[in-house]
Amino acid sequence: MPLFLTDDEISFQKKIRDFSKSVVQPRAKKIDQTGEFPADILEEFKKQGIFKTNISKEYGGLELGFVYLCIIMEEISKFCASSSLILQVQETASQVIKIAGTPEQKKRFLPKIGTGEIMLAFALTEPKSGSDAQSIRSTAKKVDGGYILNGTKCFVSNGNVADYFVTFAKVMEDGQGKITCFLVPKNSQGLRMGIARDKMGLRGSITTEFFMKNVFVEEDLKIGKEGMGFLIALSTLDRTRPMIGAQAVGIAGGAFDYALKYAQKRIQFGKPILHHEGVGFMLADMITKIEASRLLVYKAARLIDKETKEGKIRFSKKATMYSAMSKMFASETANEVTSNAVQILGGYGYMKDFILERYMRDAKVTQIYEGTNQIQRYVIMNVMKDLKNHLLEE
Ligand SMILES: Cc1cc2nc3c(=O)[nH]c(=O)nc-3n(C[C@H](O)[C@H](O)[C@H](O)COP(=O)(O)OP(=O)(O)OC[C@H]3O[C@@H](n4cnc5c(N)ncnc54)[C@H](O)[C@@H]3O)c2cc1C
Repeated sequence: MPLFLTDDEISFQKKIRDFSKSVVQPRAKKIDQTGEFPADILEEFKKQGIFKTNISKEYGGLELGFVYLCIIMEEISKFCASSSLILQVQETASQVIKIAGTPEQKKRFLPKIGTGEIMLAFALTEPKSGSDAQSIRSTAKKVDGGYILNGTKCFVSNGNVADYFVTFAKVMEDGQGKITCFLVPKNSQGLRMGIARDKMGLRGSITTEFFMKNVFVEEDLKIGKEGMGFLIALSTLDRTRPMIGAQAVGIAGGAFDYALKYAQKRIQFGKPILHHEGVGFMLADMITKIEASRLLVYKAARLIDKETKEGKIRFSKKATMYSAMSKMFASETANEVTSNAVQILGGYGYMKDFILERYMRDAKVTQIYEGTNQIQRYVIMNVMKDLKNHLLEE
């Protein structure tokens, strides 16, 4: 297993970097200022075939896997984390079909998810159920030909563009709620969208809630069996967490590049501030932690690619642990690096005319979504409980 990127991956990285510089960078500031969803960037993603990256060739995809997805996430996030989240959500939501869909469901949905004709959102979180995802209250009642869903979902990213909501709800049986996964069409009767939330960062990503009142969902829009929903959700997040790690690496990398250039030019006490150890050492720590994060992210992604090829739904403990470590460490790094980057610009760093305060605001959410970092520590701790040998030996 290559420790870092192969030659093919590096040329792909270059292609995405050029795209990101020419298409995403010029739009990033405005997207943050206006808080508008970047519909033009979504169209560019479709044109570039970005959503095909992790869809198998059988369904018209490129079958490139998670290392490539992480490359895209990192390169886009160097300029605009709101834009990279569009891909993140499409991938997270489509994972459920890849993991647990029937051949008919895969044939029906995956080709159009790849082209972007079908956009998805992932709706697990509820007002009273976040980290404790098993405590969701949405219900699904079996009826002739399908299910009737009731409940409220919140913090749904891409809610504004989704054609289907990947929705988790409990089918009640003998007093037990069996968490089950459904694809709920956006135009379903009884489904009402709530307001878009006003956020600290990621301002171009629309985060909505929706309410389901007696929403009928056809049987063939149930993904996996009744009661499999929690396993599907966990297995999905195990796979997609390194992408948030890559998003964090991109945010940190973008902030670092900017702060470094500034520190090379800004003169105080007769020399560039980079030459003062207080600043130079800060930059040395920043680049070291970014590189360490990148290694973890790409190692986790490569492990996931390997295990996906072996056809497992649930991952080995090792892959689960690396996935959690990569997201946790990279997001902690992004928060430290973006805050220090603002510090390096002094008062200018605090001003909106310079881009770094946006990076600091955008970085915060990477510690929160796809499972908070407290929950990632639980995941790592639980793997360690069963650990017989040192996982890191190889
Ligand atoms: C911008 C944004 C976009 C999002 N997009 C989506 C989306 O598309 N789909 C979706 O389903 N969700 C989405 N989320 C929701 C996100 O995944 C949740 O916010 C997250 O899982 C935490 O849940 P919570 O907010 O309810 O916090 P809570 O679970 O209430 O946690 C509050 C605090 O307590 C801590 N905590 C909780 N339990 C423990 C414990 N046992 N031990 C130690 N600490 C604990 C948490 O770490 C956190 O710091 C999004 C959130 C944001 C902010």
